[in-house]
Amino acid sequence: MTTTKNAIHTHVPGFPRIGAARELKFALEKNWRGELSDAELESTGRALRARHWALQRDAGLDFVSVGDFAFYDQVANHIQLLGCEPARYGFQPQQSQLSRYFTMARGRSGDAHDAGCGCGAHTADALPAAAALEMTKWFDTNYHYLVPEFTPETAFSLACERLFDEVAEAQALGHAVKAVLIGPLTFLWLGKTRTAGFDRLALLDQLLPIYGQVLDRLKAQGVQWVQVDEPILGLDLPAPWRSAFENSYWQLNQVGVPLLLATYFSPLEENLGLACRLPVAGLHVDGVRAPQELASIADWLPVHKVLSVGIVDGRNIWRTDLDAALAVLAPIVEKRAGKLWLSSSCSLLHVPFTLAAENQLDGEIRSWLAFAGEKLDELDVLKRALHGEDAASALAASRAAIASRRASPRVHQAAVRERLDALPADAGQRRSGFAQRQAEQRARFQLPPFPTTTIGSFPQTPAIRSARASFKRGELDAAGYAATMREEIAYAVRQQEELGLDVLVHGEAERNDMVEYFGEQLDGFTFTRLGWVQSYGSRCVKPPIIYGDVSRPKAMTVDWTVHAQSLTGKPMKGMLTGPITILQWSFVRDDQPRSRTALQIALAIRDEVADLEQAGIGIIQIDEPAVREGLPLRRSRWDDYLDWATQAFRVSASAVGDATQIHTHMCYAEFNDILPQIAAMDADVITIETSRSDMELLNGFGQFRYPNEIGPGVYDIHSPRVPDQQEMVRLLQKASAVIPPANLWVNPDCGLKTRGWPETQAALRNMVAAARQLRAIY
Ligand code: GLN
Ligand code: ZN
Repeated sequence: MTTTKNAIHTHVPGFPRIGAARELKFALEKNWRGELSDAELESTGRALRARHWALQRDAGLDFVSVGDFAFYDQVANHIQLLGCEPARYGFQPQQSQLSRYFTMARGRSGDAHDAGCGCGAHTADALPAAAALEMTKWFDTNYHYLVPEFTPETAFSLACERLFDEVAEAQALGHAVKAVLIGPLTFLWLGKTRTAGFDRLALLDQLLPIYGQVLDRLKAQGVQWVQVDEPILGLDLPAPWRSAFENSYWQLNQVGVPLLLATYFSPLEENLGLACRLPVAGLHVDGVRAPQELASIADWLPVHKVLSVGIVDGRNIWRTDLDAALAVLAPIVEKRAGKLWLSSSCSLLHVPFTLAAENQLDGEIRSWLAFAGEKLDELDVLKRALHGEDAASALAASRAAIASRRASPRVHQAAVRERLDALPADAGQRRSGFAQRQAEQRARFQLPPFPTTTIGSFPQTPAIRSARASFKRGELDAAGYAATMREEIAYAVRQQEELGLDVLVHGEAERNDMVEYFGEQLDGFTFTRLGWVQSYGSRCVKPPIIYGDVSRPKAMTVDWTVHAQSLTGKPMKGMLTGPITILQWSFVRDDQPRSRTALQIALAIRDEVADLEQAGIGIIQIDEPAVREGLPLRRSRWDDYLDWATQAFRVSASAVGDATQIHTHMCYAEFNDILPQIAAMDADVITIETSRSDMELLNGFGQFRYPNEIGPGVYDIHSPRVPDQQEMVRLLQKASAVIPPANLWVNPDCGLKTRGWPETQAALRNMVAAARQLRAIY
């Protein structure tokens, strides 16, 4: 037994807030529909927090985390806490904090009528429409945060009591509290400014005193610790940002409440020394993403400081190999006597809630998993084992699960391994270069200049969704479901013919989701019942789990596509999701490199591409919207990732003849710094989302002299607004100034599944007219 002096503590940087049954989602959506009062929503929030703290305490954690709860987003909470709601919202003092919060999160439509319409509905104090805060990805996760907006006029003040109320709430329930804050530098870093030449770091001096006030209040409340998250220490930081840390933390440390500086998602590298030196009481590091740094941190971190080791993976759903974890921890335990904490690598926000509800998972696969609730238990077992307490049966269970996963034939398919090992060096190589392919494809398809197409999906109507729901409930049989989908496909084809589009699609009626649809048909994937993870606000995703070698038992899209092609003389574009997107939007196995899993998926897609070609489909699109988001946080790791990601795409696309045209599609992203790799993917045609940037995004492609054909999106599909012909002509003229017009395609920004038919038809009619007008000009 270890003396209490040498006791090891456990905690987590944060816990999922959406609720085991997504209670928060449903309460939020009811509140937004006006069916649940604000007071009722607050009480749902309170109940969830109480439940989640109880789980943490009951699992044996030494502190519960307070401040990780948010009705929409933790960054938005900080915008209110720090009193920096953007002035553009023109909030009135009488407006409640909660309604302001949701206005920032969701936007305000203002008055739907035109001003001066004479309807009498305009009141003097009606607020003008205001767009929601921009949303962007939280580091390299699939969680989206609301982006703070900074201007030279931004002022801060301690403006919201919510955090302190929650601390009091937890204390009233008898919990030992560790409050959680986003650190000042990370908060500024995550924001954006539209003021040219303004550096938001200049706001730091004004921001720090407000953080000081927050810490003062927390100290007065008697919290044991304050965790201050500074994950930007894992990024390539500009020098002024790095050097701002020391002084900032010197100031914050003056308050006298113990600070745990939390870093995660990425190795600290050149910031390691800095992180160890900062005047704080403790440092949390990600032992899963950067195990190689643990030994030096254990040496460098002054002995009086707490080291919190994130040893349980907060980003993935696999059970921890507890023996391996104990082996990693053993030397650290000795060095950090009495000052060692164990934790998940990052907040558990990024994993599903609990395995308890997963009664439909295969039992063996289930035994390999640990969701948030089970990860808490793992921390407790580790703590008990290191304290010399009896943990034998838990360790034995873990060992058995790890051994079963390692040896399971469900995971390891000899045929897949042999195929990968025997992959010819030129598997990622089309037969000829682009010029040759382009000539053959032009001769084959005889498309007009500025050919028109769409990105794949057509409206997922209530009829489609209800047919799928009945099918899943067993009320509609497979034949009935297939007949309904074939009808929907026929409808989409008819619409496209009437609109006069040049390259048609089948419309994806049969797909619930572009990754799930393929995952369900591939070996090596499994699905949970309730494995939801918050994506943003009330939106959650349920990522597939890739547990084993991936292979394709049979064709996945050929029947639908051939059916669609049989209904038209125009080329029908086959529609697939690419290997990187499938990888990126799933929980991926951790027992082999991601690159290898990507290549396995690529081979499955390659077979599908070959089957489509064989079935007479001449144009095949392989969607890769997630390539950019897969980039590692550290630039030094970009090349490696981009090499294997590009190669995986090329392997998926290269089994076909020169006259078969491969398309790819990517949604809006910062493409400029990865243009060489996008070009290296060598798709014959790439369609990208550009209209929101008013075609500016295309300039990079132009300057880079992007060699293949491009379809820059000419209208935003995120809104029901129908763009007129002239607007699209103008965008296409802009595009023609930077890309050779002979290489341009005309298409919307992205798929149309969230739109209704009437607006889709109206918009596409204008788009086809715009293309025709362009043909007359160029
Ligand atoms: N083919 C898909 C669709 O049209 C592409 C979606 C996406 O890029 N996210 O829905
Ligand atoms: Zn898209």
